[in-house]
Amino acid sequence: TQRVVIIGAGIVGTNLADELVSRGWTDITVVEQGPLHMPGGSTSHAPGLVFQTSPSKTMTHFARYTVEKLLSIEKDGHRCFNQVGGLEVATTPARLEDLKRKHGYASSWGIEARLVSAEECFKMYPHLNDDMVLGGLHIPTDGLALAARATQLLIERTSKAGVRYLGHTPVTGIERDGRHVTGVSTPGGIIPADIVVSCAGFWGVELGAMVGVKIPLLPLAHQYAKTTAVPALAGRNINSLLNGMNATLPILRHQDKGLYYREHGGQYGIGYYGHRPMPIVASSLGLTPRDVNEKNMPSRLDFTTEDFDPAWKESQKLLPTLQDTEIADGFNGIFSFTPDGGPILGQPAHIDGFYVAEAVWVTHSAGVARALAQILTTGRSEIDVSECELSRFEEIQLTQDYVNQTGQQNFTEIYDIIHPLQQRVSPRNLRVSPFHSRQQELGAFFLETGGWERPWWYEANKDLVKSLPPSWQPVDRDPWSAQVHSPISAAEAWKTRNAVAMFDMTAFHRFEVCGPGAVSLLQRLTTSNISTKPGTVTYTLLLNDEGSIRGDIFVLRLDDDVFQIGANTATDLAYLTREGRVQQQENPGQWIQVRDITGSTCCIGLWGPRARDVISGISTVDLSNQGLPYFTLKKAVLSGIPVTMIRKSYVGELGWEIQTSAEYGQRLWDTIWQAGKLHGLIAGGRSAFNSLRLEKGYRTYGADMTTEHNPFEAGLAYAVEANKKDDFVGKAAIQRLSNQVPSRRLRALTVDDGRSMILGKEPVFYNGKAAGYVTTAAFGYTIRKPIAYAWLPGGVDEGTKVEIEYFGKRIRATVETESLYDPEMNRLSQ
Ligand code: FAD
Repeated sequence: TQRVVIIGAGIVGTNLADELVSRGWTDITVVEQGPLHMPGGSTSHAPGLVFQTSPSKTMTHFARYTVEKLLSIEKDGHRCFNQVGGLEVATTPARLEDLKRKHGYASSWGIEARLVSAEECFKMYPHLNDDMVLGGLHIPTDGLALAARATQLLIERTSKAGVRYLGHTPVTGIERDGRHVTGVSTPGGIIPADIVVSCAGFWGVELGAMVGVKIPLLPLAHQYAKTTAVPALAGRNINSLLNGMNATLPILRHQDKGLYYREHGGQYGIGYYGHRPMPIVASSLGLTPRDVNEKNMPSRLDFTTEDFDPAWKESQKLLPTLQDTEIADGFNGIFSFTPDGGPILGQPAHIDGFYVAEAVWVTHSAGVARALAQILTTGRSEIDVSECELSRFEEIQLTQDYVNQTGQQNFTEIYDIIHPLQQRVSPRNLRVSPFHSRQQELGAFFLETGGWERPWWYEANKDLVKSLPPSWQPVDRDPWSAQVHSPISAAEAWKTRNAVAMFDMTAFHRFEVCGPGAVSLLQRLTTSNISTKPGTVTYTLLLNDEGSIRGDIFVLRLDDDVFQIGANTATDLAYLTREGRVQQQENPGQWIQVRDITGSTCCIGLWGPRARDVISGISTVDLSNQGLPYFTLKKAVLSGIPVTMIRKSYVGELGWEIQTSAEYGQRLWDTIWQAGKLHGLIAGGRSAFNSLRLEKGYRTYGADMTTEHNPFEAGLAYAVEANKKDDFVGKAAIQRLSNQVPSRRLRALTVDDGRSMILGKEPVFYNGKAAGYVTTAAFGYTIRKPIAYAWLPGGVDEGTKVEIEYFGKRIRATVETESLYDPEMNRLSQ
């Protein structure tokens, strides 16, 4: 087996050792700078509240596994999880509504949850001020992780299984031979390893720097305080203390004021997120002392009482029994925040054998550790980890400025009610396309993704709303779905279907793969035969060995040895880069270069029945259906600008993606804009685009399908060439899966009343039971109904009536046959 060194004996590192040992790996060393009995990282003081439910399916499932695992770790009859349940209370009408949304997430991800009245909250939690609480959400399986104890028991059990633990041993460097790690250096010498995993918590940045890997996490201090003895708790937890637990009330969250609570025997523990962000640089904390104890550890800074004052006042209001107490003890404890709030898991593209599992809460610790152990031992995690991948970040998101700003914002907003489209105010305008100034002139409303500013709609199209035919008039929305939305999108969709619109496609990832090894690389990684003639466009899938989908891409063959890839994420780039490098090592003559060309190029999608009228006046080449059939491309010159015309369409209308080098971008925009004037050309935004896309049934990787799904379940069997001669990753699994009836399927639903909106992630009920969940949703302007894609049991057929739960209300919907718009693809092949 491989020699593994794990850096850090916190809750993540020890869980990882345990997960690897249980999978038969034997040569594992855990290196910890602090003493093993209390290493002094975030785990050593974590109060361990585990609220499992979140908008993320992945994170919720990580949490669920952590609960299951900690419940199973036991010594002398004492477990490592106190399943007291979790109660989130609402003190504002907005929060009360939001708890309904959260209840929906719990149903979607299979967590038992109940919305409870104010009276029930009070019954469950008698210390609450019943004048304040409007209602709550109760999750019976939530509770308290005894994280420090679990860490000790995991050290004990894995040591017995042969894991070596080295306490008081700081890792000072990571050894490498070329691109491969070979071990770690410590004051006691080098410890050789084939795989090094950094589970160093908020020291992750320092560890990453040892191998030139930027880890986008920001250590921030967060306040936690204990009260003096609480009269109302006197005697309450005596029996519980005998079991090694010291709490019986549910863990409590008062998110309207950034607060959470737990019992510590007869005292209350109070955590607070309402204070100013307090960023820390881990390396400034100095060496971990030899005598770490409760009060003296690097992750524990002095309590700043003035920051806690508002929390204390609010706490005494919510829990009046605290008026008879004082703060006995408090500290500012450090843990990690990331630009998008997710953990950081996986490996960088340019180093082999180096992995990280950082910015992980106790709540998700065992789940993350299991996922990484599965990746190391089998190459794949059963829970999708795309939203946790280290490689998900764009270069701009790895800068210290970006991490500082976004990390602090995430701290401040951690308990806020966040709309799925809510935007950060800063940093903005980091990446703009060459069309940006023109878009501003048209009153673009921009949303940011991956640093890119993308027009969502254009205020310049406002007047079109008035001229919409009755069957296109936008329907009223509920206040939540009306946020970050404009009826202008309806007009932009209408124009695309009935005239012509131009969409900025620049922010979509474009990679160039070239060199003598390019064909064999893409042939090996994709489900299609890409060894076609130059000028061909292929939509294809990237699978893993189990036949699950790890990405969907467009492969454009530009020349014999030159391809362009249209991809979803930076993770696709990391995958292609790594696979290309490995292939090249084995066969150096077959070199491959993988390059991100997204920023050096730009792209306009020109689509609509009049698209050819617009282009014919300015193009030098034959763009007729014969001259450039669907899914082909060719070079052209448009009014003197060299471009590549790519005949494809996300919106299901005639047209092209017109790509050029970034420096010609503005001129390209102006040229098309001028040529389009006669034909009613408008600029269209992403909001209309998403609606048109869903009407056609084009899926989005990461939202509609992930590594948890195979192509047959996802309705993507058409992208797998069953008879492809060459071997490709996942081929054997695909042949096996093609004989099975899928047990679940991604289905298109439409809302029966033609108006009730859903936004994604809501549970879908079939025969009264939560049977699946919505992936993406939009109002389908052409079909005049809201559309939702949803995962449902395989046997739920077309025509079946289901219900979607949206803020506690049930919305009736019907399972439809795809595509909802132009299933014969007539519009595309004119
Ligand atoms: P750590 O426990 O920090 O472990 C990392 C280890 O790596 C450390 O022991 C460190 O000494 C070691 N290390 C670092 N660098 C080196 C090196 N160069 N060589 C050798 N060893 C090294 N989470 C929850 O889920 N629920 C909560 O209620 C909760 N409450 C919290 C309250 C507070 C006040 C704080 C600060 C955090 C809280 N958290 C909570 C977050 C949680 O504590 C952390 O996210 C979690 O403990 C991180 O675990 P870890 O194993 O990744 O990191």
